[in-house]
Amino acid sequence: MKPVTLYDTTLRDGTQGTGINFSVTDKLRVAHKLDEFGIDYIEGGWPGSNPRDEQFFAEAATHTWKHARLTAFGMTRRGNIKVEDDVQVQRLLDAKTPAVCIVGKTWPLHVTEVFRVSLEENIAMIADTVRYLKSKGREVLYDAEHFFDSFREDPDYSLATIKAAKDAGADLVVLCETNGGAMPEYIYEVTQKAVAHLGCGVGIHTHNDGGVGVANALAAVRAGAVQVQGTINGYGERVGNCNLTTIIANLQLKYGYQVAPDLTKLRELALFVDELANVTPDIRAPYVGRAAFTHKGGLHVHAVQKLARTYEHVSPALVGNEQVIVISDMSGQSNVLVKAEALGFKLEKGAPVAASILNEVKRMESEGYEFEAAEASFELLLRRHLGGCQPLFETLEYECSYRRDSERGYESCLATVKLNVGGETVLTVAEGDGPVNALDGALRKALVAKYPAVTEMKLEDYKVRIIDGHLGTAAKTRVLIDSTHGTDNWSTVGVSFNIIDASWRALTDSVEYFLLRSAAV
Ligand SMILES: [Zn+2]
Repeated sequence: MKPVTLYDTTLRDGTQGTGINFSVTDKLRVAHKLDEFGIDYIEGGWPGSNPRDEQFFAEAATHTWKHARLTAFGMTRRGNIKVEDDVQVQRLLDAKTPAVCIVGKTWPLHVTEVFRVSLEENIAMIADTVRYLKSKGREVLYDAEHFFDSFREDPDYSLATIKAAKDAGADLVVLCETNGGAMPEYIYEVTQKAVAHLGCGVGIHTHNDGGVGVANALAAVRAGAVQVQGTINGYGERVGNCNLTTIIANLQLKYGYQVAPDLTKLRELALFVDELANVTPDIRAPYVGRAAFTHKGGLHVHAVQKLARTYEHVSPALVGNEQVIVISDMSGQSNVLVKAEALGFKLEKGAPVAASILNEVKRMESEGYEFEAAEASFELLLRRHLGGCQPLFETLEYECSYRRDSERGYESCLATVKLNVGGETVLTVAEGDGPVNALDGALRKALVAKYPAVTEMKLEDYKVRIIDGHLGTAAKTRVLIDSTHGTDNWSTVGVSFNIIDASWRALTDSVEYFLLRSAAV
């Protein structure tokens, strides 16, 4: 038995989060991914609340699950009716899951004001529902809603509700920090009291409203909790739930609890769920974010090269992440050398050419260039400095105009390009939907006779950023172009006071990079 089990509620509590939506197919895919990862319980939804969740359980019942116990979520019976007459409780059974989780009221304020039943009836609702579901052969988890807020006001009643669930046969009582505002030492203290009162371990369900959802769940584990409930990437209502992705790594790497069979799949799991939820991954997510082991400052890079643990709290490989060295205006020589090496260039540290490349990077960055997302432009810069590459073409002139004729409903851009290609002057003209499209057309026309491969690549994305003109100069424009050739993708950057010129620089870099690469292949 695991010392701490993992209970995932991405598909129920997670979908309460703003912008989080899964189709039935997505839910099944996420559930299988969680199962493969080794999550112990997967809460698939609330069958009594919507048809999509009912459909999910109907399909899930026909699937094979390797490890996880599928769990349906619901509520205790309503007040003053028999549990077998409660439709919502029947739907829980219809879901045909091995485990069910029911939420009940702990806080007298909610019992009398929201449920409008007596405090005694509330206890009966909890006990009846647990007993009934147990009699149907289900593993029953009882979620004590608002336990920590309730405990502040009325500890005796709060403890009486969870005792009722336990005595009725609940397999696990889960303490819920529903409003998410409590702090870790309070969670620790109250969890300890609940564990002592019940004489057994409890589960912990926390929300992140105070930014301590993970810390609160860890505090509860230290006080005797044996199950952690949360969501992948911390999705959930308001600011979200306890982030399982973070706490799994903490439990295993910091506290030594073996909770996941293969932690190196953690980043992959996080990205997979983001992908299906159509959420842009948080680069700053602990452990799994793109930036979690990214080093930018020159001093840090120098140190991590020597000894990774100088600036890394754990090895990124443990969670399936990797160390990233970025090029930036904070670069010392180490950054440039490491990056150059990754691209296949050998540079001696301290050599004049390395210093001159570094100076050039710094100069361009002060002009507004950024190479973090434009490695192809960085590689061209290296090649030009190392002298190994003659320019494939030289820009002599170019012009781009935009014309709109509203009477005839006509608009277009026209570009004229004059290049020196291998000693020959070539002049071409092309039309396009926009300026970049027109320039791209004219550039390729000029090159195609000498470099036929130029027709094989294409531009995929084009991003424009206005760089803040706080230095008292006019604002500059930075253009980033993503290009592609089959499975090969590269990005280039151009900076200028003029958007057309910035685009031209990024465009010519992209084409030159591709031609150099395809010639080398
Ligand atoms: Zn919740």
